[in-house]
Amino acid sequence: MFSRIWTKPSTKSCSEQLERLKAALQDCDAVVIGAGSGLSAAAGFTYAGERFEQHFSDFAQKYGIRDMYSGGFYPFPTQEEFWAYWSRYIYINRYQNAPKPVYDDLLKLVADKDYFVITTNVDHCFQKAGFDKKRLFYTQGDYGLFQCSEPCCQETFDNEAVIRLMMERQENMKIPTELLPVCPHCGKPLTMNLRSDDRFVEDEGWHRAAEQYENFLRVRAGQKTLFLELGVGYNTPVIIKYPFWQMTVRNPKAIYACINLGDAYAPDDIAARSICIDGDIGEILTQL
Ligand SMILES: [Zn+2]
Repeated sequence: MFSRIWTKPSTKSCSEQLERLKAALQDCDAVVIGAGSGLSAAAGFTYAGERFEQHFSDFAQKYGIRDMYSGGFYPFPTQEEFWAYWSRYIYINRYQNAPKPVYDDLLKLVADKDYFVITTNVDHCFQKAGFDKKRLFYTQGDYGLFQCSEPCCQETFDNEAVIRLMMERQENMKIPTELLPVCPHCGKPLTMNLRSDDRFVEDEGWHRAAEQYENFLRVRAGQKTLFLELGVGYNTPVIIKYPFWQMTVRNPKAIYACINLGDAYAPDDIAARSICIDGDIGEILTQL
């Protein structure tokens, strides 16, 4: 439905776009934030380089793993090694705070607005920064939850205690066998509650959040709504990006804003009501 010719409003001056976004934030009745991995990257959750070296140099040496993300797909020979890797991954990306206060700055901008957040991020940063849990929809899961690998049930399990134990007790890149997590119902291994295939468990909390998101959009249809897209790429554009474009097309009072380092675009159909800023999200938020 969208033309293939892209508009690039980021060629307009950045300060003009910033002013338009400031005005839109002040003027709107509601803000729908759509956040992708670029937002957490701006907050310092990077998956390669120094952070990777600091926590995974042994895995890099033994298996040639180059960054945290690709290491998540490595076929480790034992479950004990698999969980040594993943417990570190989950611990530093879920239970430690983001290095930079980007999420806190974002909350300051929308705290007194009628807002809702939809995100493909699974690192819990919105909740840690104090965003209202009832205004959040984590579509792709949460590093802080386990699910049955089968799955035999549509249930998730908080993993903080066991992840901390795995961190404390791992040696030579292995966790003790007795810490291997198993499903309390069927005894099969537990795994992360992350959407990677059709075995992803959508628990009660997931369905509640999905419903709250739909309700938010339905009740505010036709209002002056700002669709604020932050760091969303093209891995899963059907979750945030394309729906934001479509909702902006359908609502003449809506504004679409896209902040993205290197990839800030809007389709022609909504160019006049779009604000595109190509830059570091953290820096831009502090200027608003
Ligand atoms: Zn099970």
